[in-house]
Amino acid sequence: MIIAVDGPAASGKGTIAKALSRHYGLPHLDTGLLYRAVGIATVRMGGNPDDPGDAFKATGFHDALLDDPELRSEAAGGYASQVSVHPEVRSALLARQRQFATQPGGAILDGRDIGTVIAPDADAKLFVTARPDVRADRRHRDAMGIDYATILADIQERDARDSARSAAPLVRAADADLLDTSDLTIDAAVQRAIALVDARTRDSL
Ligand code: C5P
Repeated sequence: MIIAVDGPAASGKGTIAKALSRHYGLPHLDTGLLYRAVGIATVRMGGNPDDPGDAFKATGFHDALLDDPELRSEAAGGYASQVSVHPEVRSALLARQRQFATQPGGAILDGRDIGTVIAPDADAKLFVTARPDVRADRRHRDAMGIDYATILADIQERDARDSARSAAPLVRAADADLLDTSDLTIDAAVQRAIALVDARTRDSL
């Protein structure tokens, strides 16, 4: 069983994907980390994340970088959004994600283009979203020392860039179930996600 979980920054998709992974006993890949690693590697190599050549060179990053706590920073999220615009970066990361998705026994991937590009035949697809003010509030609670207005502006900038890019933009797949977490507790959101996946996979049996 392949489960695709897509949605914008701080929508709750990562938390939901991890909970689904525990519930169904399936391995989980946070694909945002791959783009964050490329972004950070580009900058550490002295490159410019807006430059396709610089960003492509960084796609050969060492796997150890995926454990670097700096990948979780707001800055890394911004660099990731910049490098993820380049089609050559996206195709360099494609095989790795497809391989993970099609491993025997199934998998759960979360990102922006899992249901549309990486695993269009996924058994269940969730498009997780929340209002921008709610997402900024969540990030604000996590990111010490950065003010709310800066975080909201950053989220809006990333949403716009991720949705407007021509290569694999952030869009809900036609067959994805919408899950708005704005007014849900984490527990309620997870229960709703499980119900949606169960309903989809029951249909396909
Ligand atoms: O999910 P996360 O916030 O870690 O993703 C960081 C950035 O990586 C996103 O804003 C997006 O630009 C990019 N990304 C992407 N495709 C994915 C996952 C992440 O373009 N599948």
